[in-house]
Amino acid sequence: MPRLPSDFYLRWRPAPTAPTAAVADGPDRLPERWLQQIWRHQRLRRDELRGLDGRPIRVLHPGFWNRGPGPDFQRAVIQFGGDTPLSGEVEVDLGVGGWRGHGHDRDARYAGVILHVVWEAPVRDFRPPVLALAPFLEAPLAELAPWLAEEAETTLPATTPGQCCAPLAAVDAATLAELLHQAAQVRLRRKAGEFALRARHAGWERALWEGLFTALGYRHNTWPMRRLAELTVAAPPEVALEPSGDPLRWEARLLGLAGLLPGQLPPGDNAGHARTLWDIWWREQDAWAEHVLPRTVWEFAGLRPANHPHRRLALAARWLAAGDLPRRLERWLAEGADNDSFAERLLAALAPAPEPDSFWARHWTLRSPTLRQNQTLLGAPRVTDLALNVVLPWLHARAAAGGNEAVLREVERRHFAWPAGEDNAVLKLARARLFGGSARRFPRTAAAQQGLLQIARDFCDRADARCAGCRFPELVRALPTT
Ligand code: SF4
Repeated sequence: MPRLPSDFYLRWRPAPTAPTAAVADGPDRLPERWLQQIWRHQRLRRDELRGLDGRPIRVLHPGFWNRGPGPDFQRAVIQFGGDTPLSGEVEVDLGVGGWRGHGHDRDARYAGVILHVVWEAPVRDFRPPVLALAPFLEAPLAELAPWLAEEAETTLPATTPGQCCAPLAAVDAATLAELLHQAAQVRLRRKAGEFALRARHAGWERALWEGLFTALGYRHNTWPMRRLAELTVAAPPEVALEPSGDPLRWEARLLGLAGLLPGQLPPGDNAGHARTLWDIWWREQDAWAEHVLPRTVWEFAGLRPANHPHRRLALAARWLAAGDLPRRLERWLAEGADNDSFAERLLAALAPAPEPDSFWARHWTLRSPTLRQNQTLLGAPRVTDLALNVVLPWLHARAAAGGNEAVLREVERRHFAWPAGEDNAVLKLARARLFGGSARRFPRTAAAQQGLLQIARDFCDRADARCAGCRFPELVRALPTT
């Protein structure tokens, strides 16, 4: 028997009221933070971008958001026309006047800016190159506004227990589970909404592939992976992309496009595999020449071997070669609705057929030594990430778009029954703030983890380290007691 009204969390959740006014009042009232979020998440028609000087702009990496002094995004990688990609900073302002008006032209910290991103730019005098975002939004501003208003900083302040910690300790386990469930519901629908928006511009299949590749990039390499999805799922018009059912061909293409095929053959038994890939890639590379990513766009520091881009691209190559991944996901949802082994069955649907003698069974990367034991290209923890961040939200969005209530219910059933995923730094930080670091009272489901992340996003991300102005403690005190 539920203890909370079904909209309890939604009623307490901060309402996005500001955006409507800002959209209605016109571009002068747009918060600069919105432009930063549009750029950071690339909510743009990326394949149409063109600077004010007329050159096409390809964003190979939008850079890392800088919330301190200096340019807004650091270590971006941008390609202007067919030129060699440039690495540098990106500054975001409402208008081109911000460049001089804010003194960036006289500030040495801005000397490395390679692109000035603005909302609109009526003038044609610009240095550095300018990109006006307004003509290239992924969807009309009024549709993006709720997402923009919600989008917040992704790092939580401080690790000390927050002001909600004491009142939360007094909440009984069943009520806490229900609250987390409602917050997880919000998160699932938000992610599904993002897929629906993307699908309206790019189509359902491309939205899925972009989501899958991005998820394979983890935190470090999401942008180069997203770019590879764009290139291979919707190849540029000048490239006659032949469909292929050969995983090696896809592997060579992806690693070649990624700029990650070794220039010199590695030692030992790795050389044979690298040579095979080069034998395929050299026949294609001229056609793709201007799209090959620079190595600088990839981040390798702190990566676990299993998450290395070499290995993740080998997995993506097998998905592309099989050619039926979207159908497999739909079958996974349609079959065995009464069977609770859906996590294992999704692993079976996503994992490539076993290749016990393949190179990737015995190597983490193209250069790593031979492993003693065979390793699969996809394990259960990664499937949980893919399920919660891509597969279930995508299926949810499709079912909602088609008005299919039965499928929606089944997607939600699986989402809420999914076993807990691996712990990570963001979850640990949120638990430290809300529960004093204790995992004892925390439900062991992936949905509870998702609910906790949503609460952190809705409340912690909008407050300072002392929780000033946060209404979550008030929400907790309003929970029914036993
Ligand atoms: S900001 Fe709010 S939700 Fe976050 S720890 Fe503080 S009181 Fe709790």
